[in-house]
Amino acid sequence: MASPQVDVAIIGAGPYGLSIAAHLRALKVPLRIFGTPMSSWRNHMARGTSLKSFGFASNLYDPGSTFTLAHYCQEKGLPYSEAVDPVTLENFVAYGMEFQKRFVPNLEQTDITSLARAPQGFTLTTQTGEHVSARRVIIATGITYFDNIPPTFANLPEEFVTHSSQHTEVSKFSGRSVAVIGAGASAGDLAGLLHEAGANVHMIARGDVINFHEPPLPEPRPLHMRLLMPRSGLGQGWVQRICNDFPGIFHALPAKLRLHAVRRMNGPAPAWFVKDKVVGKVTIHVGTTIKEASKNENGVHLVLNQREGPKELYVNHVIAATGYKVKLQRLDFVDQDLRRQMQTLDETPVLSTNFESSVPGLYLVGLAAASSFGPVCRFACGAEFTANRIARHLAATT
Ligand SMILES: Cc1cc2nc3c(=O)[nH]c(=O)nc-3n(C[C@H](O)[C@H](O)[C@H](O)COP(=O)(O)OP(=O)(O)OC[C@H]3O[C@@H](n4cnc5c(N)ncnc54)[C@H](O)[C@@H]3O)c2cc1C
Repeated sequence: MASPQVDVAIIGAGPYGLSIAAHLRALKVPLRIFGTPMSSWRNHMARGTSLKSFGFASNLYDPGSTFTLAHYCQEKGLPYSEAVDPVTLENFVAYGMEFQKRFVPNLEQTDITSLARAPQGFTLTTQTGEHVSARRVIIATGITYFDNIPPTFANLPEEFVTHSSQHTEVSKFSGRSVAVIGAGASAGDLAGLLHEAGANVHMIARGDVINFHEPPLPEPRPLHMRLLMPRSGLGQGWVQRICNDFPGIFHALPAKLRLHAVRRMNGPAPAWFVKDKVVGKVTIHVGTTIKEASKNENGVHLVLNQREGPKELYVNHVIAATGYKVKLQRLDFVDQDLRRQMQTLDETPVLSTNFESSVPGLYLVGLAAASSFGPVCRFACGAEFTANRIARHLAATT
């Protein structure tokens, strides 16, 4: 099956793909968009958890921001807090789904199985077998394809080691022992949920402490706090605020500095509201790395490296809550030649100030753009700048 060429094809229907589509539709740019809406949030995050980002920074974006999470909650009579109480995953997903219905009703709920170059642009193949011809393509596949499991676990079967993104619920671990590797939001969320589900949980972290976020101060914060530590979607502080508000300036920094900043900023830190669910409830091993992991008859035998010397631990299962690492080569639906043609920096795509890769007409947004535009691209709030910038550029070049 083949269809007439479309100007823009968007692959992915998370906060970035949907926000870009909403902007392009408003500018009357012909487009098709593919993917399962909000799928990372619905199918790859643990149910019953809450977002780390506050209400004001947990939005999808239409031009003029006429339908924010605050608007949605008001319409539905749901509780909403700008910057104090956490946003539940359930409410955020429901909001995202409503945003899609209102602003991107033309979403086609099928995955793209291949993307290749064609004489006049690109050819995409859908899961349903349609060949779509597009002049320009935006890859907005978010965190999908980039889940990171440390090589120490590479040889263990999935029965014994999984990534945190594979768990939306954890009741099957009741009565079993589980090692959660990591000290970030996913690790904290899962450790707390596993404990509540009746598992014997070991949380294993490289650092000497687990950096739980501090609980927010009641609003309005004192004036001196607002001046010294302005808030933004990236947290409190001037550096965070500048990176949040000016991703274009971040793009102008030298490449080495950008890579360093992206690695260092917003490091692993569970949310403040999971601290009580974890501390004193699960066994926490700090200052610990994994020396060896091997299969034994009941599960996994771990050799932990600690300051006091190596220590053995036997668990039924390991969950690697070890985050996401952008490697362009892992976008396996993108034709191998096309992946090779894209210029990279530390395995991440090099992007223009309009998110265009070195292959003309091919754009990447979201997490894949973080080494170009900074840490804001790792969060939903980065979709505002992205959607504005890319939509204006594409509309101006139709
Ligand atoms: C545990 C956890 C907690 C988080 N908490 C927060 C938070 O509190 N606040 C925050 O701002 N961010 C949070 N994040 C980061 C969050 O994932 C990103 O901000 C957000 O998802 C980025 O949106 P996106 O549209 O780029 O990608 P995604 O939300 O990952 O969406 C990608 C979309 O692409 C689609 N897709 C993938 N492959 C294909 C294909 N081949 N064809 C078609 N479609 C495809 C998927 O179906 C999906 O809908 C969290 C992440 C994790 C893992």
